[in-house]
Amino acid sequence: MPHSHGLHRTVAIHRNDQIQCIDMRHRIAVVGGGPAGLTFARVLHRHGHRATILERDPAPDARPPGGTLDLHEEMGQLALDKAGLLTHFQALSRPEGQAMRILDTDGTVLRDWQPRPGDRANPEIDRGQLRDLLLGPLDVQWGRGVAQVVPKTEDGVLIRFTDGRQETFDLVIGADGAWSRVRPALSSATPHYTGVTLVETSLDDVDTRHPDLARLIGDGSVAVYGVNRALVAQRNSGGHVKVYAQFRAPLDWHTNPQRRTGPDAGLDPADVEAVRSSLLTLFDGWASPVLDLLRHGTAFFHRPLHVLPVSHTWTHVPGVTLLGDAAHLMPPLGAGANLAMLEGAELAEAVAAAPGPEELDEAVRAFEERMWTRADRWAKFTTAGLERLVSPDPAEALALFDEVQPS
Ligand SMILES: Cc1cc2nc3c(=O)[nH]c(=O)nc-3n(C[C@H](O)[C@H](O)[C@H](O)COP(=O)(O)OP(=O)(O)OC[C@H]3O[C@@H](n4cnc5c(N)ncnc54)[C@H](O)[C@@H]3O)c2cc1C
Repeated sequence: MPHSHGLHRTVAIHRNDQIQCIDMRHRIAVVGGGPAGLTFARVLHRHGHRATILERDPAPDARPPGGTLDLHEEMGQLALDKAGLLTHFQALSRPEGQAMRILDTDGTVLRDWQPRPGDRANPEIDRGQLRDLLLGPLDVQWGRGVAQVVPKTEDGVLIRFTDGRQETFDLVIGADGAWSRVRPALSSATPHYTGVTLVETSLDDVDTRHPDLARLIGDGSVAVYGVNRALVAQRNSGGHVKVYAQFRAPLDWHTNPQRRTGPDAGLDPADVEAVRSSLLTLFDGWASPVLDLLRHGTAFFHRPLHVLPVSHTWTHVPGVTLLGDAAHLMPPLGAGANLAMLEGAELAEAVAAAPGPEELDEAVRAFEERMWTRADRWAKFTTAGLERLVSPDPAEALALFDEVQPS
């Protein structure tokens, strides 16, 4: 059954000196309840309008929310300001999490940046906290996976759901991340593998259970760069730490039969001890306190890094657009969620200000141009950044940090 949520607008029209009020309704769906989709819906909500939020996950806590995010003053924080949530964010976020330490593979401290008192340029927040903050009063339809989007049908843009149901809208916003099911309605681009894989693990109660590691990590992050590989540990709230082993490898590094002779042959990613031992071999020779990050890690998750082509754009299609990773998946160098949120906020403001279908389409078209220009800059920066962070010359990683960290 079609849902009647939508963007209701009452527009005053001057006709024969009389003011008539007509009710206009844009039926808006946002596919995906990540940072992009939720920020869009929350800012729209602040302007008094509703969007139907369609999320594949069956519940907000259906899977672990992921690691910490640093939200930049001029991007993620600006978006939260537009949503009226900046003060709440400031109460939850961790400015001390901006601390960054870089070690040599032998454990020598090469850099140790501490945030200045009052520095709120890039504070950290747990993803789960950010999600709950954005969710607030929003009414998400959980467990509604989108299978396909068909623009330009008689009744608008058709969404086909994975359960076989379908529904039409005037505007469908694809905020459904890297493997977007909305994107094929606009573009044939698909993500490709960067050649760099992350294996993620975590530590709990680090301050009580692993005090030496807690000191090594400090209040923020610690990173160690070697030849074509790196280890990064980031403190989340509540003594939780996420550890990312990063290395250059073929996509099938753990399963390829050609590599049966190597240490990773036939590796089962679910076999915690096998993955741990494979990683310890990969990082062999690094300082023992650094390797403790892997020795004490709990489960391991394989996250090969994929990206969309830099400068990805599409020919505008009325009634459909993309936000965030669905539009411009790029290496995770601290920009993706920030861009996703700023885009969500800007699109919501533009949509809220559009009185009729023509203005709505113009607003979306103008938004896309703006998004592409900004995302293009970041995609180039993060692509070059990944090359330098996981590189044959570890000095490149240090040089990159020296360029971007405040002195
Ligand atoms: C290890 C790592 C660290 C990172 N650190 C940072 C950081 O510090 N700062 C930063 O700015 N960025 C960071 N990023 C990038 C950031 O996570 C992403 O750019 C950001 O999450 C994109 O938000 P999004 O809303 O576009 O997509 P997503 O967060 O991927 O959300 C998409 C949502 O859509 C839902 N969905 C997917 N398919 C469907 C479907 N078919 N139907 C319905 N719903 C669907 C998903 O369940 C999900 O909820 C990091 C990324 C990684 C991998």
